[in-house]
Amino acid sequence: MTIAELHFHFLNSNGVCTDTRSLEENQIYFALKGENFNGNKFAQQALKSGASLAIVDEKEYVTDRSVLVDDVLTTLQQLANYHRNYLDLPIIGITGSNGKTTTKELIYAVLSEQYNVIATKGNLNNHIGVPLTLLTMDDSTEIGIVEMGANHQGEIKMLSEIAQPNFGYITNFGKAHLEGFGGFEGVIKGKSELYNYLRENNELVFINDQDEIQVRQSANIVSKTFGSSQSEYPVYLEDGSGNLKITVGGTTITSNLIGTYNFSNIAVAMAMGNHFDVPLTHIKNGIEKYVPSNNRSQIIDKDTYKIILDAYNANPTSMAAALKNLQATGTNTIAFIGDMFEVGETSKTEHQAILDLAHNLNISQVYAIGPDFGTSSPHPMQKVYESYDAFAKAYSKQIPVDTTVLIKGSRGMKMERILEPLSF
Ligand code: ATP
Ligand code: MG
Repeated sequence: MTIAELHFHFLNSNGVCTDTRSLEENQIYFALKGENFNGNKFAQQALKSGASLAIVDEKEYVTDRSVLVDDVLTTLQQLANYHRNYLDLPIIGITGSNGKTTTKELIYAVLSEQYNVIATKGNLNNHIGVPLTLLTMDDSTEIGIVEMGANHQGEIKMLSEIAQPNFGYITNFGKAHLEGFGGFEGVIKGKSELYNYLRENNELVFINDQDEIQVRQSANIVSKTFGSSQSEYPVYLEDGSGNLKITVGGTTITSNLIGTYNFSNIAVAMAMGNHFDVPLTHIKNGIEKYVPSNNRSQIIDKDTYKIILDAYNANPTSMAAALKNLQATGTNTIAFIGDMFEVGETSKTEHQAILDLAHNLNISQVYAIGPDFGTSSPHPMQKVYESYDAFAKAYSKQIPVDTTVLIKGSRGMKMERILEPLSF
């Protein structure tokens, strides 16, 4: 079966599926392999449960209504790319170290005010998620938004070649996945693969002209700038002390997001709305309706104090940004911070640097938890614990009135657990 034939079959099916547990009638089952599973083994089951076709790559699992290919993952990616070209719609590609999902959701919120938009669901942003996202788009889709994640060189290039974006944005270059990319310069190079794709294909890049690395790395690409009153789209931050207030052309928008690092995420969504001729009143609507989820930059108002819950993830860049933001909220501040994972060789130094920064910022109290924080040197008013359990045993304080509390750490630290002890 050629990819064109498979695509024809796909158009007459109910989409694709990679997990028999969520299979729907008349879907094409792709027998992917993982470290701990072999989808081929479930092909028979998938067909029994109503799959119209099973794509397998091991001979012994070939049966009626299955297609044997060299590699199921490659076939999935080829089908997605074929479908992307068949649809011929504008696709926006988003990558960056932090803020991809937030930015993608904000762009979705703005553009879907006027268009039928399909965007990456949740965080399905890798070599499997990107193809699956493309395959959820159909003839009625007017704009596609694809989040592309990476933790090593070459990945964004490959995802760009599959999704073939016409518009791109890199949220930021941060100290994330340093191990896989080979240091910070490696991150810049790896993420810039999106710029290289856009440059080679004469596509359009959105640039926050206040971000020096974005400006430098995107040289010689057709661009649309935003970020200051001097930009092509003159949007700027009016007030960053609480829920961000953003102004463009005399209109001020109050978002539900906190943290000045979210300014560029919101601003690019507005700039894209403007590019696609969404009227400002609708752009405003879209931004004001968006409420972050998944422990990302949420404010929880307690009677006597306030919590900034940002426990979805952390790396040295986003942790520093969050602490600066905490300091800007007032004089009584407490940070509950968890280890930042995947920092690599410089991990110890980066964790110490965060404690030093918190000290310099005069954060009133810091509770730092995890193997790396736990073995760092705390400053006065800072306590470090090597594990969550050690912290939980030792912690019994009440939060003083009028305090702002920050909760942040890598996903694996599950810092949102702290909400329990804090709730009494
Ligand atoms: P993932 O790699 O898990 O897909 P992501 O890039 O999609 O992450 P988000 O889920 O949008 O990122 O946000 C994760 C966290 O990154 C936020 O809670 C916030 O702390 C931080 N963050 C968001 N936007 C930015 C930004 N523009 N610059 C720096 N940090 C940011
Ligand atoms: Mg994401």
